[in-house]
Amino acid sequence: MSTIAENIAKVGVRIREAAQASQRDFSSVGLLAVSKTKPAEAIREAHAAGLRDFGENYLQEALDKQALLVDLPLTWHFIGPIQSNKTRPIAEHFAWVHSVDRLKVAERLSAQRPAELAPLNICLQVNVSGEASKSGCVPEELAALAQAVTQLPNLRLRGLMTIPAPTDDVARQRAAFARLRVLRDALNLDLDTLSMGMSHDLEAAIAEGASWVRIGTALFGERDYGKV
Ligand SMILES: *Cc1c(COP(=O)(O)O)cnc(C)c1O
Repeated sequence: MSTIAENIAKVGVRIREAAQASQRDFSSVGLLAVSKTKPAEAIREAHAAGLRDFGENYLQEALDKQALLVDLPLTWHFIGPIQSNKTRPIAEHFAWVHSVDRLKVAERLSAQRPAELAPLNICLQVNVSGEASKSGCVPEELAALAQAVTQLPNLRLRGLMTIPAPTDDVARQRAAFARLRVLRDALNLDLDTLSMGMSHDLEAAIAEGASWVRIGTALFGERDYGKV
């Protein structure tokens, strides 16, 4: 078995055990493989080991890899910060966007989504930890943003995403993820998605209802940003 296949098996065990611990169905937690900075060959290996959903943060890097992998039936998720002048290729080349945090970006994605494609699945990124530097809308702006996004014809609002402040304290991890769940439920919009949990905190996220965990390092190893 390749290292990536072994890592996928290990992450699968972590997801299964976390789901079991909170009486959740294992199949209700999707594994989104975060392949940023990793070569197309690593994605090919992960696909061979059974993964289908891949998340990328950097647009040009993602497009380059997509071109090398057109022969594979992959589902691409954009999870990085979005510049409003770069929305067109995102609308054209992804099935999901997890990182929408303002209406202008949502409006452009809807307007630029090609008519022959299914609506673009959208998660609104929320800043639940309140650090000034983090992207994501503030919780106070969420309801208005969500309402507006539901009106856009070529988007399908699926739920919320967050990247909480990193901490090893499991109680704090859970509190941040619980906050996202409560915000989602309070919207009363029939949203089925909570995109939350990364390599170091996926158990806490699953305990609080994650439907996608976004896992990079635990699948592909440490990232070398010098190669981006
Ligand atoms: C890089 C990244 C991840 C993966 O993080 P790991 O700690 O490597 O699992 C998940 N989500 C987002 C938005 C990221 O940018």
